[in-house]
Amino acid sequence: MTVVALCLDGVDWNYLKAADTPFIDALIREGVSTTAKVMIPSVTNINHASILTASYPERHGISGNTYYDRVRGLDIYMDDAVFLRCPTLLEEASRRGLRTLLLTVKDKLRRLLSRGVTHSYSVEKPSDEMVKALGRPPSIYTAEADLWLLRALRWEVEHHRWDLIYASTTDYMLHKHGPGDDEMRDYLSAIDEELEAIYGLGVILGLTADHGMRAKRVNLDPVRLLAEHGIEAHLTAAIRDEHYIHHMNLGGSAYLYLEDVEEARRILSEAEGIELALTRDEAAERFRLPRDRIGDLMLLAEEDYTLGLNPSSPYRDVELRSHGSLHEADVPLILSLDRQLRGVVENRLLLPLLGFRADAPR
Ligand SMILES: [Zn+2]
Repeated sequence: MTVVALCLDGVDWNYLKAADTPFIDALIREGVSTTAKVMIPSVTNINHASILTASYPERHGISGNTYYDRVRGLDIYMDDAVFLRCPTLLEEASRRGLRTLLLTVKDKLRRLLSRGVTHSYSVEKPSDEMVKALGRPPSIYTAEADLWLLRALRWEVEHHRWDLIYASTTDYMLHKHGPGDDEMRDYLSAIDEELEAIYGLGVILGLTADHGMRAKRVNLDPVRLLAEHGIEAHLTAAIRDEHYIHHMNLGGSAYLYLEDVEEARRILSEAEGIELALTRDEAAERFRLPRDRIGDLMLLAEEDYTLGLNPSSPYRDVELRSHGSLHEADVPLILSLDRQLRGVVENRLLLPLLGFRADAPR
């Protein structure tokens, strides 16, 4: 039987509760459902890496979407398998002779996670076979891109034998629309219908998300704020991504690189909009992050703040939905159960596995 693990990028409980999704509701009722804690910073790449390696960032090495290479003075996207310091579950499954498939919307995520998989492609760079079957995919900045991905997933289950499939939508729609919006309800209903069709083919289905999403109203520029106190710093937003039109690289966490760490920490700890300012050691310990890929300071914003550069003053009003802070850390974890699996769960054997992220440090 094919196991399908699907990450619905950015879909937290607020979205699911406001949606009309009878299939997912039934899955929650009849399967196993819990709330998982994501890795902090609550951004995409670090969490896909943790889901697919079942380990903390200190082991897999991904500390966000981007890290700063101090020697070269460059912000580097962590969007390739060379950045991943341990094998993924897909890689290990392939090595044991299982047939594995990775499907993503953005090709950067495929590049990060595809080492050792039997087959992989993205909506951005689809396989020839899938273009022939479904036609050319739409732009990745559309709701239809995620639906194309799910139709490809369904086609793969129908036409090939896969043991383990990992697929992920993208959070473009979630950045654009809140839980109650009509566009969001239509989007999630369409996803629900596709999932029902995939499940109908007789798969074991697991659903989760890499982070939640919240409305933000103010951007704080920590570099500008510190400059007012005569301190120079470099800021690397954890959310920083080559695809940024939907969040403008403004998220709820950032790494700062600077000399005068203690004085900067004192100033920032008292600044409006900062929830936590942690030194490298504190951040690495608390969130189990790789020390060499985080800043001298790690900043986490209050719920309705983002952290990023401003053109003229430390604070600027913004209107967007984003993530990255401690406030987007709760996500659904939903698993379908067939008779055999139900027995395993009832014997409590599967519970530690399901909760493997439940003890994530806060
Ligand atoms: Zn994401």
